[in-house]
Amino acid sequence: MPGRRIDLHTHSTASDGTTPPEELVRQAREAGLDVLALTDHDTTAGWAAAEAALPAGLELVRGAEISCISGTISLHLLAYLFDPAEPVFAAARQELRDSRTSRAERMARMLEADGTGVTWERVRQIAGGTVGRPHVAQALVEQGHVATVSDAFAPEWIGTGGRYWVDKVEIEVMDAVRMVAGAGGVSVFAHPRATVRGRTVDDQVVVDMVAAGLGGLEVDHVDHAPQERQHLLGLAAELDLLTTGSSDFHGTAKTVQLGACTTDEAAYERLVAAATGVPVVYA
Ligand code: AMP
Ligand code: FE
Ligand code: FE
Ligand code: ZN
Repeated sequence: MPGRRIDLHTHSTASDGTTPPEELVRQAREAGLDVLALTDHDTTAGWAAAEAALPAGLELVRGAEISCISGTISLHLLAYLFDPAEPVFAAARQELRDSRTSRAERMARMLEADGTGVTWERVRQIAGGTVGRPHVAQALVEQGHVATVSDAFAPEWIGTGGRYWVDKVEIEVMDAVRMVAGAGGVSVFAHPRATVRGRTVDDQVVVDMVAAGLGGLEVDHVDHAPQERQHLLGLAAELDLLTTGSSDFHGTAKTVQLGACTTDEAAYERLVAAATGVPVVYA
């Protein structure tokens, strides 16, 4: 089936997206997508609602985006079609979510103590699911301190290393790659060259990740400039990795639209063939 439109990286209200999973699958079909992956941060909580609401003609890839670290550099690992009940990886996701809750509470309480009007109760209410900085950012928008969620990611607010920023638990990336494989999943390094987000790891880390079982690189992503995509394509060819393109849709929390970048059919078929955790789902 050549020519299908495949978007392998999206977020719902189960993490820091603003679209509920059941609405996301509907919007995906409306946007002309044939395959959609749901990849909420550190959680599979949106899977069931997305499956239950799956419209005809849309194929659902169940996934997650895992918070990882290499040295002092934070990075994201997309995990696809893993068994959610596999205990080692499930325990790791739980630890990541617990840490997200305690750090968001600390950030909110610091903001509260400084009289910003932001409260932990409100942030928790905004979040609903797995809490992230975008939820704290939304509370800052509500209180009129910043105009947009993006503007809150500044040094004087909750930008990395910023005044009200608190770090969170992140999994050593080689362990994360092994855990995804151990749960029958396929891992893809998310936006590996997103220099706009901060420091990125060098190619040796990717080489080491391949030895640990990495399946692919996310190449086409709004945060990658053309020369960064070219570099990643070369690296993927050298290391025999599959390459993906995805929107990283977050609803109204970011400006990018569903299907803004897409994945080739051949790469997608390779990804599906390599997974043994859970199957793709059709309506
Ligand atoms: P956290 O994982 O809680 O530390 O928050 C990071 C999340 O914030 C990312 O996954 C993005 O969804 C979002 N984010 C990071 N930088 C920005 C930005 N400049 N504007 C809007 N959202 C951002
Ligand atoms: Fe996010
Ligand atoms: Fe990410
Ligand atoms: Zn993402």
